[in-house]
Amino acid sequence: MSAVSMRCWRGDMDAVTIAHLHKYFGTVHALKGIDFTIHAGEFFGLLGPNGAGKSTLINIMAGLARAAGGSIQVHGHDVVKHYRKSRMLLGVVPQELVYDPFFSVREMLRLQSGYFGFGRENYPWIDELLTVLNLQDKATANLSQLSGGMKRRVLIAQALVHKPKVLVLDEPTAGVDVELRQALWEFSSRLHKQGTTIVLTTHYLEEAEALCGRIAILDQGAVVALDKTSVLLDRHPYRLLCLTTQSATVTVPAALAPLVLSQHGRALILRLHRSQDPVSDVLDSLRNAGVQIQDIQLREPKLEDVFLHITGRGHA
Ligand code: ADP
Repeated sequence: MSAVSMRCWRGDMDAVTIAHLHKYFGTVHALKGIDFTIHAGEFFGLLGPNGAGKSTLINIMAGLARAAGGSIQVHGHDVVKHYRKSRMLLGVVPQELVYDPFFSVREMLRLQSGYFGFGRENYPWIDELLTVLNLQDKATANLSQLSGGMKRRVLIAQALVHKPKVLVLDEPTAGVDVELRQALWEFSSRLHKQGTTIVLTTHYLEEAEALCGRIAILDQGAVVALDKTSVLLDRHPYRLLCLTTQSATVTVPAALAPLVLSQHGRALILRLHRSQDPVSDVLDSLRNAGVQIQDIQLREPKLEDVFLHITGRGHA
């Protein structure tokens, strides 16, 4: 992808301020008093199991849904009271493309740019986006003729047409092939380096771990964790001791049985609490029980482990 020339916005103020946010759908309390701030220039991850409230939060941020109480401000502009101003500062890449099949890609982007009050002066930027997102060959194609991956690129171009300070990527890589996923990672990292605040929701936790400086985990409408990604990983109390035993018929001593995560053939995985289960003690217990060990690996937690520990659920 070629270079993008976005303005540097980093450091002017908080990008998104969410205060006491509540939302109900009938009797479902979808957001239960959410409070957090996303700083300008951050690459921020918004994670949570299905039904946690992520889409509801993004919809309120984008002015597509109304909160029952509380507020969201984008760079100090309330998303309800100052809708136009806050919307100008926000680009949202939704999961699905809603489009008029009779427009070409370039026409649709120009139309979108017009909604934000831009005229011809913005056309060079639109062409730059088409180039950066490898859409230049499709600029005159009808939207209905595009593949799923190409439509995903159009969604991103559409969200960036007005050069927003904050870009919300809602599951941008769901269902896309590896090549496009990597291109999207590279592109969002580049936007971030150039000063755009990025808010990412994703089902791919390795993606969040690699890209996001801070992460909020939502569960059942509440923030259950919010910290730097490195801190979330460091604070996780467990790590995995992955052993290859010499024999496939090993009996683990009863005292260690609660630590066994899995045992298949010669592969034995134990989950050790950092402070309560010193590795040397565990290895001594195994050796004293006659277990012969061929290979030892200590695996530090991944975000997947943290997520599972905090929410009690997987993230797929
Ligand atoms: P997520 O995006 O984290 O999967 P959502 O924000 O979609 O979660 O949903 C949060 C909660 O609100 C869920 O219990 C969901 O069933 C409910 N919900 C979301 N949208 C609606 C709607 N339009 N009508 C009724 N309930 C809804």
